[in-house]
Amino acid sequence: MAFTRIKGTQDFLDLSLYNFFIKKAKDHMRLYHFSEIATPLIEPVELFQRSLGEQSDIISKEMFLIASGENKEEHICLRPEGTAPAVRAFIENNIQQTPWKVFLYGPMFRYERPQKGRYRQFQQFSMEVIGSAAIAQDAQFIKMLERLFHETLHFNNFTIDLNFLGCLDDRIVYRDVLYQFLTSPKAADICETCKVRREKNIMRVFDCKSPVCQEIYKNAPYIADHLCSDCASEWQELQDELDLLSVSFSYRPSLVRGLDYYSKTVFEFSSGLLGAQNAFCGGGRYDMLAKELGAKEDQPSIGAAIGIERLLLLLEIMKDHLPIEQEPALHLIIPLGAEQKKLGLLLADELQAQGLVADILLEGASVKSMMREANKMGAAYCLLLGEDEQKTGTITVKNMVTGAQESVAQIDVVSYLKK
Ligand SMILES: [Zn+2]
Ligand SMILES: [Zn+2]
Repeated sequence: MAFTRIKGTQDFLDLSLYNFFIKKAKDHMRLYHFSEIATPLIEPVELFQRSLGEQSDIISKEMFLIASGENKEEHICLRPEGTAPAVRAFIENNIQQTPWKVFLYGPMFRYERPQKGRYRQFQQFSMEVIGSAAIAQDAQFIKMLERLFHETLHFNNFTIDLNFLGCLDDRIVYRDVLYQFLTSPKAADICETCKVRREKNIMRVFDCKSPVCQEIYKNAPYIADHLCSDCASEWQELQDELDLLSVSFSYRPSLVRGLDYYSKTVFEFSSGLLGAQNAFCGGGRYDMLAKELGAKEDQPSIGAAIGIERLLLLLEIMKDHLPIEQEPALHLIIPLGAEQKKLGLLLADELQAQGLVADILLEGASVKSMMREANKMGAAYCLLLGEDEQKTGTITVKNMVTGAQESVAQIDVVSYLKK
């Protein structure tokens, strides 16, 4: 019986685009004074129950749970996202220097019914600024992402949607206003899911995919119109500073994002090239989360996550225009007879020790079939070792692009190849 992958997972056989993105993103984050951290893939279930909220889709149906121990008494989960673990690490390691600017990346997990473009194991690159209340931080953060996508990765077709969710007090007031609207005759035709959300997680109604609901919500009251005076001036400040930094954005009043912990700034980067699931990066401010997770003091923060799979779809489209590093030239050593194998091994060892990419063909029926194999392997140079070469201490070097062939003394071959 042959084995198959777990549903909703992938094998990656060509990581060139992935590595390209990770390198660019890391370099970019360092420009903005972020440092890399890594947290475990497994975390306590309660960390996410507390941070994401019991009513979020992730907690109610998508957690990847593991029960371990003799009596399955230990409940851990595979991390569904990177923000709560970063905040946990901030608190647990007693970080004093704020703002703490960090990024992490790697696999995240959700136990959901696999569907196109959705994976049980997927990759995120997430970044956080923990311990800063200044709204100018948000403007700089959004600019940092915009520059990553626009200037570093050369994306042209994306939009930035922005909304402002206010503080906790604003949300308490607004929830009542929204509830009144959703129970009024104007909203009589909302779908059943939205009726459940209205009672349990009211702001999520705006995430509804139904066109009927979306039409109704065009007339809904929006939170950005119900901000306290402090929040209203911060919302204005954010827009002014984004203008100052030449970031174009659209105000999308229905943008709430699915997670409980967001407050004030929320944003999403989307591309029309991605179809229905078009957001490839999203984030926002989470001023209350650190205290919720056990910090002694409030640590106002902002963070974002990039969905790497979706981002790679965008990179794939423009692959030919990206400065992706070429694989270094392959030097393929071909011993023509059994007697030359030992010499071939030594020669390969010498090339590798000198920093040249080398491989050796240890099987092959004839010179012809070995040369065919060399072509398939994409060798830049073939180093042929036959009886004559062995006797004379030379090696025949064949340039596979030009076809030119030259006899080189074995002791000179490394310097010949390096020049
Ligand atoms: Zn407020
Ligand atoms: Zn609905």
